[in-house]
Amino acid sequence: MKAVRVHAPGGPEVMKYEDVAAPTPKAGEALVKVDAAGLNYIDVYFRTGQYKVEFPVTLGMEAGGTVTAVGPGVTEVKPGDKVAYTGVPGAYAELAAVAAQRLVVLPAGVSTRQGAAAMLQGMTAHYLACSTWPLKSGDTCLVHAAAGGVGLLLCQIARMRGARVIGTVSTEEKAKLARGAGAHEVILYTTQDFEAEVKRLTGGKGVQVVYDSVGKTTFDKGFNCLAARGMMVLYGQSSGPVGMFDPQVLNQKGSVCLTRPSLFHYVATRAELLERAGEVLGWIHDGRLKLRTELEFPLKDAAEAHRALEGRRTTGKVLLIP
Ligand code: NDP
Repeated sequence: MKAVRVHAPGGPEVMKYEDVAAPTPKAGEALVKVDAAGLNYIDVYFRTGQYKVEFPVTLGMEAGGTVTAVGPGVTEVKPGDKVAYTGVPGAYAELAAVAAQRLVVLPAGVSTRQGAAAMLQGMTAHYLACSTWPLKSGDTCLVHAAAGGVGLLLCQIARMRGARVIGTVSTEEKAKLARGAGAHEVILYTTQDFEAEVKRLTGGKGVQVVYDSVGKTTFDKGFNCLAARGMMVLYGQSSGPVGMFDPQVLNQKGSVCLTRPSLFHYVATRAELLERAGEVLGWIHDGRLKLRTELEFPLKDAAEAHRALEGRRTTGKVLLIP
């Protein structure tokens, strides 16, 4: 079968579309024929070596597809089931052997492409808005990179929960998308000072929570946007990692909190995975949560997809099609 592998860390050019042995499912695993793999920023961190991994590695942490075989002891799924998953490496491939515990059977009416688009970014937006800081009416949140994969979903869920949403984006086109996803206000942080704008928009009060996936270029200023006892949720580093942090800052900025969450810890048990995925997929099924999946690349062009993501040329979800 074909897969996209990386033999040593580097730029997009280190991604090789090559023949590898097809996996066979071991005990507790199911074999999934991948219809679509989701592209996520974490794939870039693995490719560049920012997150440690053993090489060679098949990239990809998310896919949707059909179960074609199961190993001994599997009760969660059966051949023919349409499924989606995240958190298991090796999705940039025609076939993937996946721990059945991590698979979610898609509800009728939700396609495997939608599943591939929803699992990682959708459940991330869900835990950020519903668990890390459970947004409620009266809250205002700041969502950086609001037209990105997580960003567009987070705007929608935050709005659903009754919060006022302020988004940041780099271009007018992205601003339109963020507004369409429910952002009440959008700041072009490439041309406007987002701290001054947030203060203006909140009458100097600040926001209850900052959802920051950009990191290096936004993190420090984000603390100046927080209301007293608010929360800085640093969940990514698209512009680079943040530096060392002095906890005294939390006091100076108004007894605020800092957390650095990861989806993995919010879907660690099968029960929580099924509950969170069930809610996200249910909203997609009912049309309450809209996926933007206009951007697709053939799997063999995965390097091009990485260039687009890192070059800030993507909006919403990007899928790779084997
Ligand atoms: P996005 O679609 O959001 O793409 C990244 C966006 O970040 C860009 O489109 C761009 O938007 C913005 N950005 C700002 N500065 C830069 C820069 N210097 N280089 C590149 N992009 C920049 O990606 P994802 O939705 O896949 O992921 C968003 C972030 O969330 C990532 O950092 C990822 O690691 C993190 N994440 C964390 C999870 C967790 O559980 N902790 C789970 C899922 C994702 P603009 O042009 O508008 O500035």
